[in-house]
Amino acid sequence: MADIKDLKEYAEVNNVPIMQEDGIDFLTTFIIKKQIKNVLEIGTAIGYSAIMMARADKDVHVTTIERDETRYMEALKNIKKFDLEDRITLIFNDALNVKLDGEFDLIFIDAAKGKNKDFFEHFENNLGIDGYIITDNMYFHGYVEMEESEIPSKNIQGIVRKIKDYTYFLENHMLYKTTIYDIGDGIAVTERRG
Ligand code: SAH
Ligand code: MG
Repeated sequence: MADIKDLKEYAEVNNVPIMQEDGIDFLTTFIIKKQIKNVLEIGTAIGYSAIMMARADKDVHVTTIERDETRYMEALKNIKKFDLEDRITLIFNDALNVKLDGEFDLIFIDAAKGKNKDFFEHFENNLGIDGYIITDNMYFHGYVEMEESEIPSKNIQGIVRKIKDYTYFLENHMLYKTTIYDIGDGIAVTERRG
């Protein structure tokens, strides 16, 4: 029997940054409450969040994109194990090279943290009229609230700067309004302005 515990264990052992417990609860509750049917996910990893979203309701379909081959292969295996091949479409590519035609009720951004704005702009035309964009890791493991001088590496400093730019971009966007929730590693929920 497929067990979600095995995915969590694999993620733990192999350092795969899957969503935290309260984050995934928020996401699946959101899907049920807003009656989300079509989800686009950027950043599959091993398929944990895609599987959890698909299991939230039997009418949910998830299209999910992963660029890392090892993780893609693992996700493929896990989606089969959970018998969700008909409800999860897995794409092996860099998301920024993928052009999609469909419209989605929810676009979930959980990939390279310095590229959130690129993903947002690349896929915003695929957002349904009443759709939502949810972005994970807005706190980036707590680094976002640190002084730059306290941040241990230049690389992390660079990512933090980009997350701050992205936060500014979301909060000052003419077309969208955003709320950032203090859940998991910080979750931004964006919707069109009325
Ligand atoms: N959503 C997953 C975790 C994703 S971790 C879960 O909660 O279960 C982030 C993943 O995004 C990594 O596996 C990484 O390889 C992938 N990624 C990063 N940049 C990407 C890009 N440009 N295109 C596709 N995948 C990307
Ligand atoms: Mg994440």
